[in-house]
Amino acid sequence: SKRPYRWKRVLLKVSGEALAGNHTENIDPKITMAIAREVASVTKLGVEVAIVVGGGNIFRGASWAGCSGLDRSSADYIGMLATVMNAIFLQATMESIGIPTRVQTAFRMSEVAEPYIRRRAVRHLEKGRVVIFAAGTGNPFFTTDTAAALRCAEINAEVVLKATNVDGVYDADPRHNPNACLLETVSYHEVTTRDLSVMDMTAITLCQENNIPIVVFNLQKTGNIAKAIVGDKVGTFIGC
Ligand code: UDP
Repeated sequence: SKRPYRWKRVLLKVSGEALAGNHTENIDPKITMAIAREVASVTKLGVEVAIVVGGGNIFRGASWAGCSGLDRSSADYIGMLATVMNAIFLQATMESIGIPTRVQTAFRMSEVAEPYIRRRAVRHLEKGRVVIFAAGTGNPFFTTDTAAALRCAEINAEVVLKATNVDGVYDADPRHNPNACLLETVSYHEVTTRDLSVMDMTAITLCQENNIPIVVFNLQKTGNIAKAIVGDKVGTFIGC
């Protein structure tokens, strides 16, 4: 495949669901290892990689708040803590194969990880370290997709690479419509007006306002993460 983009610094978003795969536990170590290997292969080429991890494999604030009477903010803090667990798991996996990796949390947990300090994150990246941003934005009522868009803008990364369990964005829901087509490129406007469920609206508009393209791709296919990071054609490109 041709290589239409050459990213220097990327923001990879890995959802909790993607980390879980089909594993009965919350995390599939084969998936975290696959992510680590592919990230290792591209950091060697000099691409700087920051990662935002989700937490949906462990806890989703909104669904618990809905069914349990838990107040939304408390539920969301539990969700943010879940992302920290995933971040530490991923960090340990990366370091086990020799990739220097730092976790930065959006709220202080200084015995466990560094606090988020933008300039320090950028410095880590410049030194060739991977930085994993955990605890989302640090605020309830937000998502880790929004955290991905926000951190991407803050550290001047060029693109949000959203690793999912589907091949990209379809013109209809492929689970219900056998004629659904995978879209190669799509505009922000189409994503929001046609309600193509890619990311929440807050995340999409933040990307749009800051001209940050989004690539949605399937992380279950070997090689896709590395392809997305180096800028090979993969999944769906959202921009313009
Ligand atoms: N969360 C939050 N604020 C944020 C990011 C996440 O409150 O800035 C909470 C929210 O409850 C969410 C949970 O953390 O449901 C896990 O994050 P998310 O659902 O985005 O994870 P993913 O879907 O990517 O696995």
